[in-house]
Formats: sequence, structure tokens, C-alpha cells
Amino acid sequence: RAKQDGRGRVRFFKREMGRQAQERRQLELDLRRAVLFAPQEFEVHYQPVIDVATRSPTGLEALLRWHHPERGLVSPADFIPVAEEIGLIVGLGELVLRRACADATRWSPTLRVAVNLSPAQFRDPRLVETVAEALSDSGLPPGRLELEITEGVLLRRTEATMTTLHRLKSLGVRIALDDFGTGYSSLSYLRSFPFDKVKIDRAFVRDIETSSDDAAIVRAVTGLCERLGMTSTAEGVETEEQFRLVEAERCTEAQGYLFSRPVPASEVPEVLALVTASASPSRIDRCA
Ligand code: C2E
Ligand code: MG
Ligand code: MG
Ligand code: MG
Repeated sequence: RAKQDGRGRVRFFKREMGRQAQERRQLELDLRRAVLFAPQEFEVHYQPVIDVATRSPTGLEALLRWHHPERGLVSPADFIPVAEEIGLIVGLGELVLRRACADATRWSPTLRVAVNLSPAQFRDPRLVETVAEALSDSGLPPGRLELEITEGVLLRRTEATMTTLHRLKSLGVRIALDDFGTGYSSLSYLRSFPFDKVKIDRAFVRDIETSSDDAAIVRAVTGLCERLGMTSTAEGVETEEQFRLVEAERCTEAQGYLFSRPVPASEVPEVLALVTASASPSRIDRCA
């Protein structure tokens, strides 16, 4: 009987693995189809980034969404790694970059747009050209574009990595280090690379109210940012209490559901108006 159970289990696992491989193949096919023939299924959403001192928006982060005809909304966490593996991220990334630059030209000139770059995009030899073209075609001033890279990009502290970073900087765009603290980061990265901003991963913000370790880590990063002349942004701020604490730990910017979820381009003006209104002291007066 035990032997039979064992065989049954093996059959079950085989079937399960087959099903997962099948699903993965289908996702790859769907992604190819969408990138090549149905780019309208991709939509760029925007989430405001807030200056902690004034509570007013400094810019918005572009976050990709995929409206799959049958699966509905597919999360970027599920399809970006696949796009990266099968060589589709460079084309998809260019689509995001171009739309984000074009959308940002319709906002106040005081607002920046942040675009995420995956490691494969960063290794693409045409990256700097692509960015320069997206800027000149849209007319967006380079200083209003910020590129977010993760620590994965920096793993190879090679000459090529440094050259690309410096060539991007000399276009006039800003560079942010995203999800800081989750990867292989060390504080020494912050002085070896020419970042303008460090985004502290939401893992450190989530429990900041109860974890004095997390608060201490946030404080260490913001202290170093201050000394090195970099902006520090707290990601994933969901509550007023978290906001109060990241302010106390001297983050200069905050981003999260407390202010707004990512919204389609058409809703950006409304969201900016809401954020700006809740920042103004007149509202506090009215509430009092
Ligand atoms: P990320 O760049 O760190 O973006 C922040 C993520 O946190 C977004 O998830 C955002 O919706 C989510 N978020 C913002 N505020 C809060 C909050 O208060 N609480 C919680 N729980 N989450 C919050 P999203 O849009 O699902 O994107 C996930 C990741 O996918 C991004 O992380 C980024 O790494 C990647 N991604 C998104 N769009 C692009 C893109 O156009 N290109 C590339 N290469 N990667 C992208
Ligand atoms: Mg990001
Ligand atoms: Mg992040
Ligand atoms: Mg993230």
C-alpha cells in the first residue's frame, strides 16, 4: 500500500509540474502576442511621490499594468521577470519610457516622472540612446526624468556598469536606487555610485512603528543620504503613524497608499489635486 501511495504521489507531482510548465509556456506566448501585436493591453499607471516637509508632490512613479483579455489584470511582479527572461523587456521597457515621458509633458513642470529599469534593460547597449530619444521625441527636459534601478544591476561593479551610469547622468537624467535594503546592498554602494536618490524598501517601513531595528536602519540610511547629498524616499507608507515615523527618521520623501494608489494617466490631475489639497494648511483649518 505504501508503495502505491508513493507512486500516486509521484504521479501527482508530475502532473502538477506539467501543469505549472504548461501555464508558464502559456504566459510566455501571451506576453509575446501582447508585446508584438497588442501593446494597447499595457497601461502605465502613476503613483505620486510626496515631499515630507511640505506634503506636496515632487513627482510620480510609472508602474506598468497588463490588462490580459482573459486573465484580467496581471501584476508586473508576475510578468516582468518573464519578459526579462525571454528577452521582451527591452521593447516593453521602451514602451513604458516613451509613454511616461509623453505623459509627464502634460503635468506641471515642477513634477518628475520615475521609470523602473530592469537589469536586462540596463545591460542593453542601446539604453543610453533609447533614453535620449525618448527625451527628445517627447520634449521632456532630462532633469524631469528619473530612472530607478535595483541592486541587481550593481552586482557586477564593472566598468561597463559605471560607464552606463555616468553616460545616463550626463544626459541630465536622475538615477534612483530602488528597493534599498532587500538585496545585496551594503551602505558602501551609496558612495560608490552616482545616485541622486535612495528608495528605502517597504519592508523597513511596514513594521517601523513596532520594530526599533527597522527604525534604526531607516535612520542609518537617511543619515548617510543626507551626508552624501541624496534624497531618501520611504516606500509603502500606508498609515499616518508610519508617515510620522519616517518623518522622524528624516526621510525626505514618502510614497504609498496613504497618499494614493497608482492610477491611470487620465486620473493623475485629480490625484495631484487631492494630494495638494490635503497638504495645504487651509484644510487643516477647516477640519479644526
Ligand atoms: P517598485 O518599483 O518598488 O514599485 C513599488 C511597488 O509598490 C508597486 O507595485 C506599487 O504599486 C507598490 N506600492 C506602492 N505603495 C504601496 C503601499 O503603500 N503598500 C503596498 N503594499 N504596496 C505599495 P507594482 O506596481 O505591483 O510593481 C511591482 C514591481 O514591478 C515594481 O516595484 C517594479 O520593480 C516592477 N515594475 C513595475 N513597473 C515596471 C516597469 O515599467 N519596468 C520594470 N522594469 N519594472 C517595473
Ligand atoms: Mg520603483
Ligand atoms: Mg521599490
Ligand atoms: Mg519593489
